[in-house]
Amino acid sequence: MKETGMIRRVDELGRIVLPIEMRRVLNINVKDALDISRDGDAIVLRKYTPNCIFCGGDKIAAELNGNNICVDCLEKLRNIKSE
Ligand SMILES: [Zn+2]
Repeated sequence: MKETGMIRRVDELGRIVLPIEMRRVLNINVKDALDISRDGDAIVLRKYTPNCIFCGGDKIAAELNGNNICVDCLEKLRNIKSE
């Protein structure tokens, strides 16, 4: 896990503010959903994208690093020729 040195205090309702730098890097925007999980004593927040990250489709065929990929986009990725 990468330490950032960013410290935030929890408010009365249990809320924290995610640092803007972190939101920019991870492309987290207002109203985005986050999946909350626990890893030992760490809280893990991961952007929740139930639909295909490329086209928004809902016929999900695979998941990679918390991002879903639909059947059509997965097929397109398979056909990409690397140089
Ligand atoms: Zn797709």
